[in-house]
Amino acid sequence: MNPQLPSLLEHLEKEQLQSLISPSLLHILAHYAQKYPRYLLKVHKYYDEIYFALSYLVEQFFLKKWNATMVEHLLNWERKYVGWKLQSAGINRNKTYITCNLNNTDKKQKLLTLTLFPYLIRKLDDCIASLSKRLTTPGLSFPKARLYGCIIKLYRKLKSCWNILTWVIRILYMCGKTQYTNVIDLILHQKVIYAQRTDSSNTRNDAPISASTKLRDFILENGFTAFILALRLLNWWNENDYQKYFSVSKTWFTNLGPPRTTMASDYHTGTSCRICGSIIQNPAVLTTGFVFCYPCIQGWVSENQCCPVTRVPLLNPETSFWRLML
Ligand SMILES: [Zn+2]
Repeated sequence: MNPQLPSLLEHLEKEQLQSLISPSLLHILAHYAQKYPRYLLKVHKYYDEIYFALSYLVEQFFLKKWNATMVEHLLNWERKYVGWKLQSAGINRNKTYITCNLNNTDKKQKLLTLTLFPYLIRKLDDCIASLSKRLTTPGLSFPKARLYGCIIKLYRKLKSCWNILTWVIRILYMCGKTQYTNVIDLILHQKVIYAQRTDSSNTRNDAPISASTKLRDFILENGFTAFILALRLLNWWNENDYQKYFSVSKTWFTNLGPPRTTMASDYHTGTSCRICGSIIQNPAVLTTGFVFCYPCIQGWVSENQCCPVTRVPLLNPETSFWRLML
């Protein structure tokens, strides 16, 4: 095994870390979008596009400055181009195998595959999910159903082929037969090695660096660590009941029990409740927009944590429905 190359285990860890970023950000955004829907619902709707743009900018910075992606740089790795190059020595032209730094084209290719590729996969996944949903709707014509079925099958086959290929490359990497750990790096002829960094204080002496550049570099280089820390903190905060001590005044309204049904001011909406089937008594509206009897939905969310009609999971079941004042 080449001592310069990180182990397969390190690569798997890196991929796991990389794959955690987007869902973690989405989780945080969903949490706050529920609290401030007016401002954040639009951001939530275009999350994929926003994430693509943000990751493009961040990764562009890291590739340009450090020859590595953000996570690779944090692990102290760098990228090298591996390939054959024509070298002319007198009359003879020799092809030599070289390892060199990435040039601008290599960086652009890596940047696009790193950011655009996952974005397209997410969009394709969404399309396939909506196609399979359409397949189950009644009244779909036979040729259409056949076409949808074929597309879904083909997509799944392509995906599993890609995964098998990735695993073959990983096993070859583990055995020392290749320098690449995934299909894209194999196509781009890029490998990852431990970075041999010189002390940054020595190399930066030649040109004075402005305070704003220093601040930008500091934020970009420590941002991810701060993000992971904030995520852990948020997780711990939500797992414990600390927030209840601070937000008592906000939740008193939803904690009110249903009004007594024997009173003269009792009212109903005239339509039937989808949980109990009878006419809605003391209506309560769920965040998904559906109205049920208060006791019915209270009992339902405490057991199921999702909307009874749409099956959309509820992030915070206890505060996801309100009494409806007609
Ligand atoms: Zn009911």
